Amino acid sequence: MSRVAYVDGQYLPHRSAAVHIEDRGYQFADGVYEVLAVTGGRLVDEESHLIRLAKSLSELRIAAPMSNSALRIVMREAIRRNRVREGILYLQVTRGAARREHAFPKAAQPVLVVTSRHTRRTDPQIAERGIAVVTIPDIRWQRCDIKSIALLPNVLGKQLARDAGAFEAWQVDREGFVTEGTSTNAWIVAADRTVMTRRADTAILNGVTRLAVLEIIARDGYRFVERAFSVAEAKAASEAFLTSTTVDLLPVVRIDDAPVGTGMPGPLARKLREGYLAHVTEAA
Ligand code: PMP
Repeated sequence: MSRVAYVDGQYLPHRSAAVHIEDRGYQFADGVYEVLAVTGGRLVDEESHLIRLAKSLSELRIAAPMSNSALRIVMREAIRRNRVREGILYLQVTRGAARREHAFPKAAQPVLVVTSRHTRRTDPQIAERGIAVVTIPDIRWQRCDIKSIALLPNVLGKQLARDAGAFEAWQVDREGFVTEGTSTNAWIVAADRTVMTRRADTAILNGVTRLAVLEIIARDGYRFVERAFSVAEAKAASEAFLTSTTVDLLPVVRIDDAPVGTGMPGPLARKLREGYLAHVTEAA
């Protein structure tokens, strides 16, 4: 089956779908994006993603390309035309195409691209074994709360992780506190069973998965605090895990050269993973 992409008003064959060479996304990374999970042909946490998209657009003063109700239709159509049951939907809005000049162009219209494809959920065996992370300096800008398509530090960080044989890199601010992964939010469970994740300040992206897991924590009455933790605290933690739309919740069992807790996925990470997977299934 051939794939279809929505590009600026048209559904095109994915193979030949393209934007203009002077699209500001291409020249300046002047745009924002969202990645949504699709399960049973339905979008997971659609509302939270649309709220975050609106926030990213308004912070960058990019006009919404269409109303949310129209956007919901385009997203469903992209899923339908690509016959996706389990997978992801990628959505990107740039400031549009204009003659190259840094300041905002007067005439450009925002350009929306939507693609959707089948993906497998993360292999449950990976969750069973747990994953390793390495720590790296956070070299990003000071507005990581905006889901901008400017991802070069994240790309370099993920590659460092891969080169080190790790699944993810946890970025560390100048004070020695973990901000987040290159495409995931970071969590630990302290020895007294308190779950910790950084407050959603401008140093991290407020993950939609993060928000869903926070709700599960509140609902199930786990002890919890939203605060930054240091690399030393993470290494001394009894459990650690990470979250994102594409990997759900994965236990972290090694940070750099240090095993976390017993070196095996911990009970709280397992419980929260089950809770989150149930939340995803509810969308289907
Ligand atoms: N942090 C960063 C830097 C990310 O790129 C992502 C994935 N988009 C996340 C966290 C997790 O966000 P979400 O749970 O919305 O996928």
